[in-house]
Amino acid sequence: MMQNDVVVVGAGISGLSLAYYCVQAGLKTTLLEKGDATGGSFSSPRYGVGGREFWLELGAHTCYSSYQNLLGIVESCGLMASITPRAKVPFSLYRDGQVKSLVSSLNFPELLVSGPKIFSLKKDGQTVKSYYSQIVGQKNYRDVISHFFNAVPSQVTDDFPADMMFKSREKRKDVLKNYTFAEGLQSVARAISAKSGLNVFTGREVVSLREENGQYVVVTADGMEYGAKVLGLALPSAVSSKLLGTVSREIAGHLGLLKAATVDSVGVVIKKENLAMKPVAALISPNDIFFSAVSRDTVPDDSYRGFAFHFRPGLDEKKKMTRICEVLGIGPSRIEKTFTRINTVPSLRLGHHEWHEKIDTLLKGKKNLLLSGNYFGGMAIEDCVSRSKAEFERLGK
Ligand SMILES: Cc1cc2nc3c(=O)[nH]c(=O)nc-3n(C[C@H](O)[C@H](O)[C@H](O)COP(=O)(O)OP(=O)(O)OC[C@H]3O[C@@H](n4cnc5c(N)ncnc54)[C@H](O)[C@@H]3O)c2cc1C
Repeated sequence: MMQNDVVVVGAGISGLSLAYYCVQAGLKTTLLEKGDATGGSFSSPRYGVGGREFWLELGAHTCYSSYQNLLGIVESCGLMASITPRAKVPFSLYRDGQVKSLVSSLNFPELLVSGPKIFSLKKDGQTVKSYYSQIVGQKNYRDVISHFFNAVPSQVTDDFPADMMFKSREKRKDVLKNYTFAEGLQSVARAISAKSGLNVFTGREVVSLREENGQYVVVTADGMEYGAKVLGLALPSAVSSKLLGTVSREIAGHLGLLKAATVDSVGVVIKKENLAMKPVAALISPNDIFFSAVSRDTVPDDSYRGFAFHFRPGLDEKKKMTRICEVLGIGPSRIEKTFTRINTVPSLRLGHHEWHEKIDTLLKGKKNLLLSGNYFGGMAIEDCVSRSKAEFERLGK
């Protein structure tokens, strides 16, 4: 059995950041990932031709100056110089075969009447629908804004807690308001994975856990075993719930209460000269089989353009490719490369703060079990890193 101080399972940004904090503290840490690369929803697959590589985001795409914990890691990994601005191209609505600007689709008289409520209305205890339909007006919410919100976690967000979408956080003044990295977000995943003292194993699905002789034993699908005093799980809540059944029924049961949605993401790369559509940041598509198509036009490339279509789950490949070609106005032979990924995003509901408090209370009885993921304080990258930091700090207390 391979012995470690810490084993972290799941190498999305939650697991990577948790492993980063452990390694920085001098703990011998192993990170186990089921997929063939680290990054999870925070990864940028590449298409290489003639010695050049074109990257595309299949999940997260934008970081902000308010992502202070993420920036702390970026700084310590020496990546500040590769922070790259995003070109100012519009987020547009795609409806009935037409691309329309979000702003021009708004009803301004309704916005003027409702808008001032932003100064008095509190988000606490309100759903996204109840809060924002008062701020922007019912019609604007129904026809425009709700689709923009739905595109963020690729699911209907009417019942999400309003205070968990677009949180306001303190910003760093010395960093661009919004940005990516010269080689995409994967740059951060790569830099953390390369930290000395961190062993990263990809292609290792964790299938069971047990407690034995005062340590955790983690078993992967290939039969390998990893022992450690401290266990970090940074997985979708349902996966953590299943694995923890043998360690704490109460924690497993509480995790099992959460719901999540899967997002079927398909990325396509097209030669620039084969695509007539004007540059966009993303197409947001009301009542379609995809929630959004996020483009690489925010970091323009000389030769290629790329789009990640985020589909509702369960559609067959042919249907998805047909829709991609229709929206982009191209034939299938124009697609140079296709990438696919299934992302998992939580379906948050009112009462989530109470759920969060209870899991933290239950974890007080399991000091060496650290739980991170995108279902605690929120699903943004910074929420994931902040949760990992807080869990790491709990270890030291
Ligand atoms: C389409 C989309 C766009 C987004 N855009 C943004 C954005 O622009 N900005 C932003 O701040 N946030 C954005 N987000 C949210 C953010 O990207 C995610 O919430 C965050 O990346 C999730 O990280 P995570 O590590 O918690 O989970 P994940 O990235 O899902 O990582 C979990 C990892 O666990 C692995 N795993 C699962 N089961 C096992 C197992 N049994 N054994 C081993 N490994 C396992 C998975 O393969 C995966 O790599 C977006 C999300 C999506 C889906």
